[in-house]
Amino acid sequence: MKVKLIETIEEMRAFSKDAKSKNLSIGYVPTMGALHDGHVSLMKKAVEQNDIAVMTIFVNPIQFGPNEDYNKYPRTLEADLEKAEAAGISAVFFPSATELTANLYSYIDINELQNNLCGTKRPGHFRGVCTIVGKFFNIIQPDNAYFGKKDIQQLYIIKQMVKDLNFDVKIIPCNIVREDDGLAMSSRNRYLSESERKDALVLSQSLKKAVALHQQGEKSSQVLINSIRQEIEKISSAKIDYVSIVNEQMQDVCTIENKNIIALAVYIGNTRLIDNHIIGETLCF
Ligand code: AMP
Repeated sequence: MKVKLIETIEEMRAFSKDAKSKNLSIGYVPTMGALHDGHVSLMKKAVEQNDIAVMTIFVNPIQFGPNEDYNKYPRTLEADLEKAEAAGISAVFFPSATELTANLYSYIDINELQNNLCGTKRPGHFRGVCTIVGKFFNIIQPDNAYFGKKDIQQLYIIKQMVKDLNFDVKIIPCNIVREDDGLAMSSRNRYLSESERKDALVLSQSLKKAVALHQQGEKSSQVLINSIRQEIEKISSAKIDYVSIVNEQMQDVCTIENKNIIALAVYIGNTRLIDNHIIGETLCF
């Protein structure tokens, strides 16, 4: 079926209201577009598990810092719509930044969980994410919403927001989709030059090496962090933003336990990439 492009809040609300009146369940996938197979895996899950699947494509101005890549973020609506349609998405909500964010006086701010990792490196980022995701939940009224483990801190923060603010939606975590060589798929990978693309492999490879150390019995966070740092420091185009091992409250841990997260953010040239692994989950790269 042809995917429906919806551009106003009023039309989106009417679409969801109509689905609800027919007792149809709604699955929802929030994205910023420039879709890749990581996004497609979320879309397919939403399609499989719900009567109707809705996706948003919104490059959210209030989650970008003043010196970040809001203006140059890739915008590829036509190709995105084709991918959405192929995955079986019923409607793509593509609102204007003006309708969604102009004259905004209320924000959703989440404490504690944002005081580490990307939260401290990108001040205001999660406030922007939560505010917009909260608005989308209110407008779309989904039963299930799909988030990638690629953005692991975002996933935990959204889960907490849903619990704290009683949003009536179930959050479904989805595994990281990688390129054949291990690089986590990201819309930002398209910024990389040919040589940077090779250098970017250091994220997944250093992560893999640290996981192997842990599997051999190493329980010290610092040892794993040092191992990752050493690998990254060998690459001249790479600059570490952070390498951390945290628990589910996003607090640094000294001794590694199940469900702890090894998380890293690294600049390759000017491109900031993130990756992570959850201890205890299968490493499939
Ligand atoms: P974005 O468009 O980058 O904001 O991402 C939209 C959603 O897709 C988020 O929930 C991301 O975590 C998820 N996502 C992005 N890249 C991947 C990936 N490689 N594997 C799985 N999910 C992903």
